[in-house]
Amino acid sequence: MNYSRQFLIKPGSKVRLRDIDPDFKDKNKKVALKLIELNNLRLRELQELLYAEHKRSLLLCLQAMDTGGKDGIIRHALGAMNPQGCRVASFRKPTSLERDHDFLWRAHRDVPAKSEVGIFNRSYYEDVLVVRVHELAPKAAWSKHYDQINDFEQSLSENGTHILKFFLHISKDEQLKRFKERLDDPSKHWKISESDYTERKRWDEYMTAFEDMLSRCSTKHAPWFVIPANHKWFRDLAVSQIMVEYLEGMHMKSPPPSVDINKIRKQYHQAKKDQ
Ligand code: AMP
Ligand code: MG
Repeated sequence: MNYSRQFLIKPGSKVRLRDIDPDFKDKNKKVALKLIELNNLRLRELQELLYAEHKRSLLLCLQAMDTGGKDGIIRHALGAMNPQGCRVASFRKPTSLERDHDFLWRAHRDVPAKSEVGIFNRSYYEDVLVVRVHELAPKAAWSKHYDQINDFEQSLSENGTHILKFFLHISKDEQLKRFKERLDDPSKHWKISESDYTERKRWDEYMTAFEDMLSRCSTKHAPWFVIPANHKWFRDLAVSQIMVEYLEGMHMKSPPPSVDINKIRKQYHQAKKDQ
């Protein structure tokens, strides 16, 4: 099992989402839940190392159609980690202040600081998704964003921010099923918005926009992963596994003590005697 390799979009490759099965799974649910638990324990340790090391940060970007599971991933990933050292930023329609700046301004503000894990629930990629699909800006403007995003991410990466990007891939049928579940469960009614249905009507246009985003912006320093997400438990397993594999690869070490441990040990023994 090497999901990092399996679901990675190789830089420079042309993505066709039709060819990627959103139903994919290679485990049963019971095994997957056990593995998620193990991954979560490991994630906690790795996050603590990132925090202790205080040299680098990790940024996770989540993109998906409505009901794709962004909130689910945030619950799971954050559930595993120590909230001290984690930060979530959600990207909604830009405010007028945000609109008065370049599109990366609001994102830069929320990039995790050294030692932090930051999760972007949606991201600056909306500027090549919703903005493109709804023609909120002229093509001449949004078509430049791909290169601008690549430059931005390269600069973040060169300054110690490690970036992983997940596209949660669900089918159109699965989305309708989830809309129904929301309708049938009054405790989920608050999540329903009119735009869920208007965006769904533009499904194919969104898929084209996602394909271009994935094809043009998966790079060595900020890779995209397409996660089969029709099965929530498989989606959670794949994302947690990729995070563990990636963080293991960062070869983090606890920093050396800032004090002379032998001296402190003597002080401890003295304190015990004096008690
Ligand atoms: P939600 O994530 O359900 O709270 O919805 C947030 C909404 O904000 C989505 O419909 C996004 O498409 C929209 N949104 C996010 N970023 C932008 C943007 N740059 N321009 C316009 N709409 C955006
Ligand atoms: Mg929504």
